Amino acid sequence: MQKILVANRGEIAIRVMRTARKMGIKTVAVFSEADRDAPHVRFADEAVCIGEAPSSKSYLKGAHIVEIARTMRVDAIHPGYGFLSENSGFARTVTEHGLVFIGPGPEAIQTMGDKLAAKEAVKAYDIPMVPGTDHAISDMDEALEVSRNIGFPILIKAAAGGGGKGMRIVEAEKELKSQIQRAMSEAESAFGDGSVFIEKYISSPRHIEIQVMADTHGNILHFFERECSIQRRHQKVVEEAPSSVLTSELRDRMGRAAVDVARACGYVGAGTVEFLLDGEHNFYFLEMNTRLQVEHPVTELITGVDLVDLQIRVARGEKLPISQEELRIRGHALELRVYAEDPQNDFLPSVGKLERYRLPEGPGIRVDNGFEEGMQVPIYYDPMLAKLITYGSNRIEAIQRMLEAISMYQVEGVATTLPFGDFVCRHPAFRSGDFNTHFVREHYSAELLRAREETEARIAAAVALRQYLEDQKQLRIPT
Ligand code: ADP
Repeated sequence: MQKILVANRGEIAIRVMRTARKMGIKTVAVFSEADRDAPHVRFADEAVCIGEAPSSKSYLKGAHIVEIARTMRVDAIHPGYGFLSENSGFARTVTEHGLVFIGPGPEAIQTMGDKLAAKEAVKAYDIPMVPGTDHAISDMDEALEVSRNIGFPILIKAAAGGGGKGMRIVEAEKELKSQIQRAMSEAESAFGDGSVFIEKYISSPRHIEIQVMADTHGNILHFFERECSIQRRHQKVVEEAPSSVLTSELRDRMGRAAVDVARACGYVGAGTVEFLLDGEHNFYFLEMNTRLQVEHPVTELITGVDLVDLQIRVARGEKLPISQEELRIRGHALELRVYAEDPQNDFLPSVGKLERYRLPEGPGIRVDNGFEEGMQVPIYYDPMLAKLITYGSNRIEAIQRMLEAISMYQVEGVATTLPFGDFVCRHPAFRSGDFNTHFVREHYSAELLRAREETEARIAAAVALRQYLEDQKQLRIPT
């Protein structure tokens, strides 16, 4: 493998290219007209414009990207996350054109891309599942019966759903029919597939996922868990590894279940098996994501492996160079997704120009970044600017480093989730480890954040004033 094309943009494109470069592999970037001056374009050895700003006219044009890869004499394509990464048709086109797709086979992507098909695929392996329907709902009477048996509240989910979209909580029987109809039409317009199903709504779960990696020789490893319970709109904002609630026995059981899920679909490459963990520490299989996850760096920091390096090795047909017994957890890692979103305003995207943009540096701090000062945050794509990742020998040290890193991170021109990250890291519920996926609803409000920022500003002003008065005293010339 001499040359890789990265069919993505932003931090993940750079992240992948960094490892490729380390392995002596040349890189090709693709970019839309909106990204002409983006750092990922300059980072690559070669770069090609693939179309207009909207992703449907650039980053999602699979056939066009494959065509470019062939012209550029590329050997393999890495899809990153998002865009074409979980598109089985794209994976197939890539291989049909004699190129290597750095990811699982199209069949595994297809099966795991449908939450119902995924549950069906893993049935033979005795994986615990959230109680609910195992097929798409077409009959309202059946839906009612299932919901009564499970007990309200229940959750309606789109089979093709992703990114926290297509989910509806139903609190009471009288809302069921209208909510199912609404969920179906939403799923149809968002995913082109109106299939929905019912799951028991687990009341205060934690989101725990297991990183897996499989080679083409039948070896499947798991790289322990990531805790991703700090979410807004069912989407992760803060992740960490390891989780503060898993015992080594539970970790082992969940790891083995994840390996079974991968085995069930003939998986190859990096993947993530997501579970919910309830208050009694029962875990339930949610879904499998068939790509490198946004939050993969926390796993890299606690295990010392480079997951992209392993992805490339596996794609070259090599055997995984480590065994499960050799893998160990060392220390603790935390990740904050730095989104251009306003935590004071319901986490709505905050687009604009990065008037000031300075990254933190120091021991135990890693920033996977895709932006630089002076750049406009495009409205066309996911508004994540960077991932701020910290490492410590224990959880409190990692949290403390995160607080320091947040205070060093300078962004002007757009609102970001940095103040929210600060809020989380100082909150007693987070610090004690006693939290679940409802952290934002239960502990956070824009008013609390504002009040804290005002107090901090007052303290800063008082400190500055005292310093000023002291300086004045020293400057006074004795008469
Ligand atoms: P998506 O594919 O859209 O990311 P997931 O199935 O992975 O959807 O779920 C995303 C999040 O939604 C979970 O992390 C959790 O917070 C919440 N969730 C999903 N299913 C349930 C459930 N049955 N009960 C309670 N919360 C759930």
